[in-house]
Amino acid sequence: MIKDLLQGKKFVGSGLLKASIVFMIGFVLIVALGFTYLVRSLFSNYEGVRQTADLRTQLLRLENAMVDQETGQRGYLLTGRMEFLEPFDRGSLNYRSASDALLLEVREMKGRTELTKAVRQLTDTGLGWKKEFGDAQIRTVMAGESVSERELLAAKQKLDQFRTQQRSLLEQVELLRGERRTEMLNRLYLLFGAIALIFIVFQMLMLNYLQKGLMRITRPIMQLDRVVASYEDGNIRERLPDYVEDNEIGRLVRNFRRMHDEMEKEKQTLENTYRMINMLHQSRSPEEAYRSILKSLGSLIVCERMSVITQNADRSFSVKAVCAEGTVSLDERMLSGEEKDIQELLNGGFSMVHEDWSQYRAEGEITDGLYALGIRSSMHILLRKEARVIGVLNLMSARTGFFTLQKKERLEKLSPMIVTALENASETVRIKNMAMRDGLTELWNRRYFEQALDGIAAQRESGSASLPLSLILLDIDYFKTFNDTWGHPEGDLVLKHVGRLLMDEVRAGDIPVRFGGEEFAVLLPDTSPEAARAAAERFRVRLESESPSRKYRITASFGVASVEGRPDGAALIEAADRALYRAKEQGRNRVCVFAEERGTEKG
Ligand code: GH3
Ligand code: MG
Ligand code: MG
Repeated sequence: MIKDLLQGKKFVGSGLLKASIVFMIGFVLIVALGFTYLVRSLFSNYEGVRQTADLRTQLLRLENAMVDQETGQRGYLLTGRMEFLEPFDRGSLNYRSASDALLLEVREMKGRTELTKAVRQLTDTGLGWKKEFGDAQIRTVMAGESVSERELLAAKQKLDQFRTQQRSLLEQVELLRGERRTEMLNRLYLLFGAIALIFIVFQMLMLNYLQKGLMRITRPIMQLDRVVASYEDGNIRERLPDYVEDNEIGRLVRNFRRMHDEMEKEKQTLENTYRMINMLHQSRSPEEAYRSILKSLGSLIVCERMSVITQNADRSFSVKAVCAEGTVSLDERMLSGEEKDIQELLNGGFSMVHEDWSQYRAEGEITDGLYALGIRSSMHILLRKEARVIGVLNLMSARTGFFTLQKKERLEKLSPMIVTALENASETVRIKNMAMRDGLTELWNRRYFEQALDGIAAQRESGSASLPLSLILLDIDYFKTFNDTWGHPEGDLVLKHVGRLLMDEVRAGDIPVRFGGEEFAVLLPDTSPEAARAAAERFRVRLESESPSRKYRITASFGVASVEGRPDGAALIEAADRALYRAKEQGRNRVCVFAEERGTEKG
């Protein structure tokens, strides 16, 4: 850990560790300084104590020297023997050295003038005794005289004075020594106390810092824990902690943020997918389905160009819809067998991605054209019905490498739903058609006829004046007898035959209808009565000349009516019916036109 710290690596708690080290160094420094100060001050205190001890020793030496002198002198005075002078002389020598040492010692103790004075007084007293009494009395005895009692008494008094002074001085020194010792101890206590206090303060600061540091570590972890728990419940709105440090937690938070973004994207994709599926399943026609497919693909994968190719009833393929720059166009474009690029796709048998068109693209005019438009990569998802390829979704991007495996897999998973939706849309159209078609002849039925009439009426109401709308009604002649003669099934055959003929004869835009029973109608928008009549005549002739069997001949009677402006359906039918009635009346197998202005029908 410390090695990592020294190498400048960041990890959880590295700040804390660093701070602890700094704290520790600070503490050790302060303690070391404290100890240095303690040792120094103890040393000086000890010096003071030692001085007082020296002082005491010298005082005792001084006393001893005094005793030596006094006993030597007394011995000589009493016996007159010279050997007693030896301790006297030694004593006075010692006295001198002791008093010198004493004075030197006391002078070193600065600020102690009282003590110095007392020491000087003491040494002077001792010296005074020696000079006045010691030496003088020895000299008297040497001269053979005797020392008077008065003088002996004076000498004793001086000696007593010395003793008193020396004792008082000893007491003073003793007192001083006690004071210094106490002072030293107090300082020792104070210093230890201070160190203990610093230690406690440091510990408290450290604890406080540690607590804050730990909080800084645990808070994001706790937040992370809460957020992750809420993610488990599927709620990904909870915000991740704003933790930016470059350590394990920082990396964890950053990874979670990345994961969160991915989840957000995934969620968006899922929502778009649901919307797409919903939209697809609501498509009522293949056109609507193509539009939905391209619109919702665009919300799943944003790319420059998309198209749908599907198979037609005759097994040929055509581009059904293209989406370029966000606009869907539904212009169908048939694909011929020569279009190699498309064939390559269809024959490939599996969905594929072409990552870089400048390296590889399907060979052909279409791809070359798109390449010139700036397309650089593509993805082609096959639409299959069981094993059969029924179409392709093409997605194209101007960026190389835009289509990832993930995108491909996503669309591949969606493709069965797209196929189903397309089939459902076709089926819906088929069912709708069935409801509008006559089951026997496959012509439009009466319901469709009425809807178409309403549609045309609405169109004519909003549009400018155009050519008249014409209606041909036709009724097979003597069909009852036919049925009776040839049987009902043969009659049905005839009805089918008439249906086929009508379908074959009408122009695009005309609406052939089985009106009911053996009655048929053709609605001819933008057709004059003359043209309608000609058409009816054409039908009549054809029907007359082409019968389903050589055994019999089929004829029909025709009633034609026209209307200008907004048509009234019922009136138009009524008019045509009247014309038809007239045709029947006039002998059948003919065309009659209703002439409104005259209110009659002409043959
Ligand atoms: P006309 O119209 O020339 O006056 O004589 P018609 O015999 O055709 O007269 P009508 O209109 O009264 O007869 C209609 C007949 O058409 C009655 C019915 O037998 C027959 N018919 C109606 N619908 C069908 C059908 O779906 N199949 C068959 N086979 N016959 C039908
Ligand atoms: Mg009839
Ligand atoms: Mg009839």
